[in-house]
Amino acid sequence: MKVSKLLAPTMKEDPQEAEIISHKLMMRTGMLRRLAAGVYNYLPLGLRVIKKVENIIREEMDAIGGQEILMPALTPKELWEESGRWQVMGDNMFRLKDRWGREMGLGMTHEEIVTDIARKEVRSYRELPVMLYQIQTKFRDEPRPRGGIMRGREFIMKDAYSFHHNTESLDETYRECFQAYWRIFARCGMATEAVEADPGPIGGTDNHEFMVIADAGEDTIFLCSGCGYGANREMAYFMDPSGELPARPETSKKEKIHTPNVSTIDKLVEFLGVEAEKFIKALVYMADGKPIMALVRGDRELNEVKLRRALKVKSLEMATAEQILSFTGGDLGFSGPIGMEGKAVYADTEVRYMVDAVCGANEKDMHFKDVNPDTDFNVTGYIQIRDAADGDICPKCGKMMDVKRSVELGHIFKLGRKYSDSMKATFDDEDGKEKTFIMGCYGIGVTRIVAAAIEARHDKDGIIWPISIAPFECVVMPVISGDDKQRETAEKIYDELRKRGVDVAYDDRDHRPGFKFKDADLIGYPVRVVVGKDLDNGKLEMKLRHEKEKRMINVDTAVDEIMAVINELRAKDFELADKFEGCPC
Ligand code: ATP
Ligand code: MG
Repeated sequence: MKVSKLLAPTMKEDPQEAEIISHKLMMRTGMLRRLAAGVYNYLPLGLRVIKKVENIIREEMDAIGGQEILMPALTPKELWEESGRWQVMGDNMFRLKDRWGREMGLGMTHEEIVTDIARKEVRSYRELPVMLYQIQTKFRDEPRPRGGIMRGREFIMKDAYSFHHNTESLDETYRECFQAYWRIFARCGMATEAVEADPGPIGGTDNHEFMVIADAGEDTIFLCSGCGYGANREMAYFMDPSGELPARPETSKKEKIHTPNVSTIDKLVEFLGVEAEKFIKALVYMADGKPIMALVRGDRELNEVKLRRALKVKSLEMATAEQILSFTGGDLGFSGPIGMEGKAVYADTEVRYMVDAVCGANEKDMHFKDVNPDTDFNVTGYIQIRDAADGDICPKCGKMMDVKRSVELGHIFKLGRKYSDSMKATFDDEDGKEKTFIMGCYGIGVTRIVAAAIEARHDKDGIIWPISIAPFECVVMPVISGDDKQRETAEKIYDELRKRGVDVAYDDRDHRPGFKFKDADLIGYPVRVVVGKDLDNGKLEMKLRHEKEKRMINVDTAVDEIMAVINELRAKDFELADKFEGCPC
């Protein structure tokens, strides 16, 4: 490819619209252009990287027996209704009507569509297991599209689905997929942490998210270097406080205090001049339609996923002011456990250890101070319902966990029979009986990989791609394109590299060398070959993007030397992939 013909409109300055590094660099290299919020054009350099990521995914999915298909993005409402997700997907689904008034949704994920294929096309246990995958554009009307293609409203996903006749078979495929995922991300230059996560509206039992640690990430994960436990904050458990409870006063010391308009923890801290950890925060929820109160220490965050799991309920919604009033007898912002005997009140395990605390009095503008659990109130149960935080201890081995920001690149799920049951997707089993499929599903954000790889690998001058997904593996350029000898030599090397299967660009532009070097660093060609004045001594310059020093190579053996370096870089991408240490499940 001649760079003079390439539509790669590079920019010198960071665009204002971009906040995170990867977005800035994708804009500056001319890989990406915004069309609407969370919707982007991929220009040639961007699409080249995406295609390379897709091909790595294809190779690894094919290696574990995946078969590529392509399902429509335009999907009929009826299928989503069968699983109940036409409702569940809410505003996140883009919906439309066809000319006949029939409702359709743009695919956000394809469990329903693929289950429909399986129930129509797969008859017998003899055809199982089967794994189908696709690489396709997905649509999600995200409330907060962010970071360019990091969180888009239209993005490319690889989604795979497996069908099994028993759980052993699912477990085996899950493990294979786990390894394939690790390899895919490693081949794209990123070592990932697999963590336990909330399955969300996809459902199912076991699931793992593949996370790459990055400051620009929206997730927080907890990792234990002792035993390898890892979990997303939404699902991160930790060791409960143990040991003797503090001594309690025999008679209550509690005192009601007037706190006009002081209805939040921040206001209480200011009003009373006491630390947030002295307060008992009470939140009222409707759990499967019934009111419950949940208590956490004032400086903690309540974790709704843990609460929902502990209560074994499907839906959990914040109660309205009226619901709070009818449950506690008090106003929103003044709830507390005192006087709630006989009602459902759950407290975080830590609350039991609090001494002389402050809590709402279930009465407008009133709180209690010097409140002690056991003396002043009892609860239905003490359960772990707060978010993990810095300093928490691993629930499995007792070591302190590390807290990191991360980006979710992939998510794999054991779905079980969730979709096959609701959609009556059956096959004939070995014993002659008709049974529903056991399923797994496995997603990767293809476009998000590109953004995350840039987050992980860049410097002040631009992107440092692993050669596996670089838009070009190598760029060749004459220093002065008007110099016939330099130009002819550069062209010869470019042609020869192309013949040998290198994805090479030829910067034939008539620009100052400094300008071309800057562009080359920004775009991040892993290998740069420059034909300049040393040609008179039979030498050229070769520089690897990730190294500081230039290497001088001989013109006569240049192509062989460049090939050796490129092959070395190619092999390196597999080195990380081969470091996989085994699936934890
Ligand atoms: P997130 O928690 O980041 O919203 P998710 O859990 O909803 O993602 P999944 O349904 O698990 O996403 O989708 C599979 C993969 O698709 C994710 O692991 C992620 O890499 C990618 N992905 C999901 N949503 C987006 C998006 N809006 N833009 C880009 N990639 C996305
Ligand atoms: Mg996910």
